[in-house]
Amino acid sequence: MVQKTELSISLFASGYCQAHERIVDPLNGKGRCKFHAVWALIFAPKIGYILFDTGYSNEFNKATKTFPERFYRWATPVYLNEQYTVKNTLHAKGIFPDDIKYIILSHFHADHIAGLKDFPNTPIICSKKAHDEVKNIHGIKAISKGILHNLLPVNYERNLLFIEDIADKRFVNQYGLEEFYLLGLNEFKLVSLPGHARGMLGFIYHSSTEHILFATDASWRYDTYKQNVLPKKVVKLFFDSWDDFVDTLQKIRCYELDNENVKILFTHCPKTLMLTHHAF
Ligand SMILES: [Zn+2]
Repeated sequence: MVQKTELSISLFASGYCQAHERIVDPLNGKGRCKFHAVWALIFAPKIGYILFDTGYSNEFNKATKTFPERFYRWATPVYLNEQYTVKNTLHAKGIFPDDIKYIILSHFHADHIAGLKDFPNTPIICSKKAHDEVKNIHGIKAISKGILHNLLPVNYERNLLFIEDIADKRFVNQYGLEEFYLLGLNEFKLVSLPGHARGMLGFIYHSSTEHILFATDASWRYDTYKQNVLPKKVVKLFFDSWDDFVDTLQKIRCYELDNENVKILFTHCPKTLMLTHHAF
């Protein structure tokens, strides 16, 4: 077997939810659109496999069986082929839960953490700000912020590693985005993207051949981001901060303007879905 010597990243999708397209694109949206739950499998030669987010799993249906959590399912009905959950996708590749060395969570919305219970012992890297909110918010308020506590494994807190504590180096780049180097990696770093959810993270992957800013839910679509079309203001109800959301988008634009070859990817964008099963 050929030993891989470079960090590589592959994207996959586990299920999707649907919503009115007008929410995403108030100018041109029609009918309903899909929000695919994309996650990434990272292979770092000196570490092994790392997951970035975990997509939907059947745990979402279990966690939203009763009220008030059922409201979440009504608001965003989920479609999932069991074959494509993160666990089954990895299994088909001969990768088992114990092979995953870390799970990085961009934020705690259900479509990013629903696969977590399949990895009950894996260290979880997230932002302390994001987790502080999860700890301190309950009931309907939590649901309205996209947080379902039942998706979190028992005793998951003992597995938590906060990026603010473990970063090798952190600094604010020239575009105003805070970057975190971690785990001794050079070509992969996390980036803070506040607004959509408290303490939300994305990643920057910059190798000799690829430059990607995976900006998670900083926007839902590359097209609307490019045209400066903001989502319908009703989303303010579950966003953490509208001002930070707009500010983060502006910083990503500056980053893109200055880095000609960068690919800006968003978790739920149809363009990102087209890159699933493709290794960078
Ligand atoms: Zn989200």
